[in-house]
Amino acid sequence: MKTDAEFPIADMRTRLLDWYDAEGRSLPWRIRPEDRKTGRTADPYAVWLSEIMLQQTTVPHATPYYGKFLERWPTVHDLASAHEDEVFAAWAGLGYYARARNLMACARAVSEAGGRFPKNEKALLTLPGIGPYTAAAIRAAAFDLPASVVDGNVERVIARLCAIPKPVKNSKPEIRRVAGDLASPERPGDYAQAIMDLGATVCTPRSPTCPSCPWQGECIAFAEGNPETYPVKAPKTIRPHRRAVGFAVFRGSEIWLRKRPPKGLLGGMLEVPSTDWRNESWGDAEAMSQAPFNSGWEARATIHHVFTHFSLDMQMWRYEADQEWEPIEGGWYAIGDIDELALPSLMKKAIGAAL
Ligand code: SF4
Repeated sequence: MKTDAEFPIADMRTRLLDWYDAEGRSLPWRIRPEDRKTGRTADPYAVWLSEIMLQQTTVPHATPYYGKFLERWPTVHDLASAHEDEVFAAWAGLGYYARARNLMACARAVSEAGGRFPKNEKALLTLPGIGPYTAAAIRAAAFDLPASVVDGNVERVIARLCAIPKPVKNSKPEIRRVAGDLASPERPGDYAQAIMDLGATVCTPRSPTCPSCPWQGECIAFAEGNPETYPVKAPKTIRPHRRAVGFAVFRGSEIWLRKRPPKGLLGGMLEVPSTDWRNESWGDAEAMSQAPFNSGWEARATIHHVFTHFSLDMQMWRYEADQEWEPIEGGWYAIGDIDELALPSLMKKAIGAAL
């Protein structure tokens, strides 16, 4: 791999920043170079909110959510005092609810400490949901402080620039080192956003537009004529598959839902009760032993859902309860309100299949 010492670093920084000044994206949470010149500074709350949303989704998908959150909870104090269920409902569609829980916990911690996000990396890392990447992104984008911000876009740019012959997961230290050496000490915030924009808009996963790239002259993958082969792909791992039976209990126009345990997958979210999620299939008698009623079920469709680390088939069973029956945990929810509830998409699918 080519080392940073062999790159004309100062020249590359200038070219990238010139490109960013002309071509960088305008994003609602971002302070552009022309804004800085007028003395405008970023709102750390807005930057933090966008970074948490962008941890698991794309800019086009996150932008309407960002607008909705900022309109409803314009300051960290507003978000800190919001009801958790309201925030979860607004988060629906942004994936992993653990992040929404951390979002609330972080907002409360910052609000209790006076409402200012810390600038210091160590202090940022003590906040819920803020890891090294997010801390670096907040330092750079919100406070214009030097920080090594390496996301998937930056990894791709560096892997191609240096034609790294290993998958990203095996070359993170090299990528970080090169990214750190290239970073601009004079304009750290703009530089961090510039290299991410380069990856997002020019050095794209497929069909990078190398003729528009300010680093084409140094890029080894371009010189080799095969930029798309980088980053080198890691061998595929097989995603485990699990199976469960879901128990949808209806009472007229209502459905029984309960909260999942606070920790773990979909922690604290509402759910339709189910058997354990396991590798083996479930026989009817076996599933019945975990059902809330031991007869009277009607089999419905099986739904399929893919999580990051495993996939799940859930065969739905439906039960119509007597008006007098009351569950010992959870409660009844109007079926017409399902879309408004903080329900994971798996559970929305499960209810849809059981209706
Ligand atoms: Fe990416 Fe092409 Fe630029 Fe290389 S020249 S960094 S492959 S856009």
